[in-house]
Amino acid sequence: METKGRKEILKRHGMRVTDCRLDVLDLFINRKQALSQKDLEENLTAYDRVTLYRTLHSFIDSGVLHKIPNDNGIASYGVCFDTCSPESHQHDHVHFKCTACGQLECIEEHIHLPAISLPRDYKMGAVDIIVNGVCGTCTAG
Ligand SMILES: [Zn+2]
Ligand SMILES: [Zn+2]
Ligand SMILES: [Zn+2]
Repeated sequence: METKGRKEILKRHGMRVTDCRLDVLDLFINRKQALSQKDLEENLTAYDRVTLYRTLHSFIDSGVLHKIPNDNGIASYGVCFDTCSPESHQHDHVHFKCTACGQLECIEEHIHLPAISLPRDYKMGAVDIIVNGVCGTCTAG
């Protein structure tokens, strides 16, 4: 995506434009998969850990990125597909984890989520669904 598009995203979410924010956003958009803080550190060596950490969290607070639960204990983050704002994150997409390459991604296409009902007295919060399987790249190879 060209710079203008990324600046638009930052503006739409009420964020000031900084080089670090543009670079982090760029990486997420180009990779099209969930990234961890470690991935950012390895790819954006021009910035120190603290700067990347703050940038990541400012994106989450502004509704640009969301945290994806991962069973390996390393938090990954994905892009919010324009559904979120600084007020709330609103997701109805599932996450896919490839058991062959370990890649985690947000499945953007609308997938019908199963209706979940809880026992009385339970209040529903966010529903996180991770589907395990083999991704397109791995099935092709
Ligand atoms: Zn979100
Ligand atoms: Zn794979
Ligand atoms: Zn996601």
